[in-house]
Amino acid sequence: MNDCIFCKIISGDIASKKIYEDELCYAFHDINPQSEVHFLVIPKEHIPGAKDIDESNSAVVAHIFKVIAELSCEMQLNSYRVITNCGEGAGQTVKHLHFHVLSGENLSEKLV
Ligand code: 5GP
Ligand code: ZN
Repeated sequence: MNDCIFCKIISGDIASKKIYEDELCYAFHDINPQSEVHFLVIPKEHIPGAKDIDESNSAVVAHIFKVIAELSCEMQLNSYRVITNCGEGAGQTVKHLHFHVLSGENLSEKLV
């Protein structure tokens, strides 16, 4: 997608602090961290959001959760939260599927 900032991050047209990359996904630090540790994991394929996950593309979601488990282990995160916002009413600002990984002392116990 030409006008998608996360596609531009994957291609390197927009700089990012990369944590991990493979053929299916890309992980990088959020530019505006909401907790001590806050990174994003995105599929390399442009999927607009969680509502667009279907039979044809759902394998990448399982892969991303496996990568998150590996990264959290490497980063020695004892506990963490994974969030995906879907739709503007839920706070989705970038229309490329992404999973927030949040960790640190300041995580509230409630989601909303
Ligand atoms: P959303 O609000 O769509 O759930 O999450 C989008 C996230 O992307 C936000 O947490 C925001 O800080 C992050 N973000 C937006 N633009 C950039 C960028 O250019 N670089 C990085 N690293 N993060 C970004
Ligand atoms: Zn995109």
